[in-house]
Amino acid sequence: MIKFFDLQRITSSFEPQLSTEVQRVVSSGWYLLGEEVAKFEKAFAEYCDSTHCVGVANGLDALTLILKAWREMYGWHTGDEVIVPANTYIASILSISRAGLTPILCEPNEDDALICATNIEPLITSRTRAIMVVHLYGQVCQMDDIRTIARQHGLLVVEDCAQAHGALYKGARVGALGDAAAFSFYPGKNLGALGDAGAVVTNDRTLARTVRTLANYGSREKYVNQYQGINSRLDELQATVLSVKLPRLDADNDRRRQIARRYIRNISNPLVQMPCVHTWLGHVFHVFTVRCQRRDDLQQHLTKQDIQTLIHYPIPPHKQQAYAEWHHLSLPVTERIHREILSLPISPVMTDDEVQHVIDAVNNFL
Ligand SMILES: *Cc1c(COP(=O)(O)O)cnc(C)c1O
Repeated sequence: MIKFFDLQRITSSFEPQLSTEVQRVVSSGWYLLGEEVAKFEKAFAEYCDSTHCVGVANGLDALTLILKAWREMYGWHTGDEVIVPANTYIASILSISRAGLTPILCEPNEDDALICATNIEPLITSRTRAIMVVHLYGQVCQMDDIRTIARQHGLLVVEDCAQAHGALYKGARVGALGDAAAFSFYPGKNLGALGDAGAVVTNDRTLARTVRTLANYGSREKYVNQYQGINSRLDELQATVLSVKLPRLDADNDRRRQIARRYIRNISNPLVQMPCVHTWLGHVFHVFTVRCQRRDDLQQHLTKQDIQTLIHYPIPPHKQQAYAEWHHLSLPVTERIHREILSLPISPVMTDDEVQHVIDAVNNFL
């Protein structure tokens, strides 16, 4: 059986260092707000070529805290709008709702499934405050065009980098391409903890301070509360795990690209469309998505050949019960993507034989 993502194999590939480091922190007796988090925050900010990193509890909180901080800093009102791709993972959209702002769904580009300036521009109103770009599947959005539009209309740009750790745009890392960025270190992400974890990355000192305060009950000074904050912390154990794994992130992403290259070169089946890749360094292949009009048949065919695949994602956010007020919306590109998309296994620990097996299986789908 070829697993979609073999977490056990990933974790054991970091042994024995991982267990040694975790044991050291367990023995230390210090589990929150300590040196391990500070060390990881410094390393991750540097990795992203950014000046500030604030560790938080998960990716959803990272996004929410950025928006809440901007609300505090700029006096935004309930109902102010944030433009977000309609085909993203629902967490991106939930963060906007949680911050008391209104998500405005934007159709993606048909070819790369990413949000783009052309589709953003007609959605901008006098209430628009920010654009949330999502580097979906691991591929960076066309940031020059998006930043130009944002600047013209006085909008802030937040990057949802939950699927794109380490991806590059014209030589610059994601995380420093907008005004702030949110990362998730959910175990299945390209940089994953052994549980939930996340981070906010930014070059804006005031934003970093505000996020840190909001994530700590709205308190900067103990027992003095400036905001109605939340408790969202990265803990010392998860920070230690991330510090062990970060130095291998670029090599792991290279291995993902290598596998993606082999898929693209060797899969040749007129029924299956390969993903579009703008630049190789601009893609870290969090998932490798193909498109197929008979997607469910293809998935069944691969399951029969012992290959586990996933759908990212089966139901678009505007068709979810959680957002019943959007059920009337017609978003044809988003809906088509959700109908046709299928993710093949890809991970740094997949063997060449496994990759070949996937290629053969896709090629003999009729
Ligand atoms: C995983 C993910 C998130 C949420 O991260 P969590 O750590 O699971 O809260 C947000 N946005 C996107 C695009 C994601 O893939």
